[in-house]
Amino acid sequence: MDAGDLEAAAGDHLRRCMAPSLRRVINGTGVIIHTNLGRAPLSAEALSEGLRYCTLEYDLEAGQRGSRRDHAAELLARLTGAESALVVNNNAAAVVLMLAAVARGGEVIISRGELIEIGGSFRVPDIMEASGATLVEVGTTNKTYARDYVAAITEDTRAILKVHPSNYRIVGFTHDATTSALAQVARDHGVPLLYDAGAATFGPLPAALVDVDPKAELSNGVDLLAFSGDKILGGPQAGLMLGGREWIDRCARHPLARAFRADKLTLAALEHTLRAYLMQQPEKIPVSRMVNATATQLNKRAANLVERLTTEVPREIARFTVAACEDTIGGGSHPQRRIDGAAVRIELARDASILAEQLRRGTPPIIGVVRDGALWLHVRTIADDEADVLVAALNAAFSSLTL
Ligand SMILES: *Cc1c(COP(=O)(O)O)cnc(C)c1O
Repeated sequence: MDAGDLEAAAGDHLRRCMAPSLRRVINGTGVIIHTNLGRAPLSAEALSEGLRYCTLEYDLEAGQRGSRRDHAAELLARLTGAESALVVNNNAAAVVLMLAAVARGGEVIISRGELIEIGGSFRVPDIMEASGATLVEVGTTNKTYARDYVAAITEDTRAILKVHPSNYRIVGFTHDATTSALAQVARDHGVPLLYDAGAATFGPLPAALVDVDPKAELSNGVDLLAFSGDKILGGPQAGLMLGGREWIDRCARHPLARAFRADKLTLAALEHTLRAYLMQQPEKIPVSRMVNATATQLNKRAANLVERLTTEVPREIARFTVAACEDTIGGGSHPQRRIDGAAVRIELARDASILAEQLRRGTPPIIGVVRDGALWLHVRTIADDEADVLVAALNAAFSSLTL
């Protein structure tokens, strides 16, 4: 190695060492809530109020200390009619907190069909143990009735827990008790009904995707409802807890609430998200735009990209076409549901994995899908304002490709 090579190698090494590790990417996978790519993308303005000094715990009218709880609680109350609300770091924390605050040292009844693992080692039985509650399983994997819960109630019962199966489905010969039926059982026996719903939104959804409606669940009689801020809601990572004042206050007073509390950036982005739903402007939320994108919009976006790529990236060796594809919600919800999408399909004279790799190394990195030997960029998860950087990154990738 001569001095020039050594200098170049040292330069490369240093650049790699100093480059940021958490980097913005372009998501061409068509998976909207992509856990590996940071789940819900946020708009820049979502964070803005939290970037400087802010009224996190300050009451402007009184000129004295306020509560960080008030920001989202007020909006959640207006959106759902919930008496009270609490925001914590993520939904896993919300579930631990509600079990610890409500059921520590007592029994919690749950259906065998809901003893699930969400991924990232969130297993309902382990969470239960960590919170100090004893798990009482009822029913069978495929069928559990309200009467199974009734039969399991003892004087040590502290709560009934319902868990949304999120990322899996039991199909065929099945039954699970509705939240209304469970609320009745809970009321009859003077214990609260807790519901880990996993994901929920206040925005419009294509009919096939409609799932948990927080307002309806609360009016069905759920005492404490918890779901994620960064799944289909399209907000920041957070755990939203909604319910009766008595139960929320109990959670808020528990020492774990301090350990799990949400920071100002989270609260700023959450307030921005909730306010958009309240003002009926869901189009301000990137996830909502992606979920509700129409076939016409997607085909047009793909056609525009294909046209630009064909003229701006003139490579005899690559063929760019618009192709139909299937997108998913991701984030462990709607596991069997595919939504029709559109993609830019890039076909090379050889297997496209080499292009996929080159794109991952680009700036910004582009994450595509290699299928049938071609590279697919699903446009549902690519914003219109990402077209310029996408085309530039493809150009750079092709230039460094030796085919
Ligand atoms: C996703 C999910 C969780 C975990 O939520 P996080 O916000 O990722 O912590 C818990 N329970 C259910 C049912 C879920 O779907």
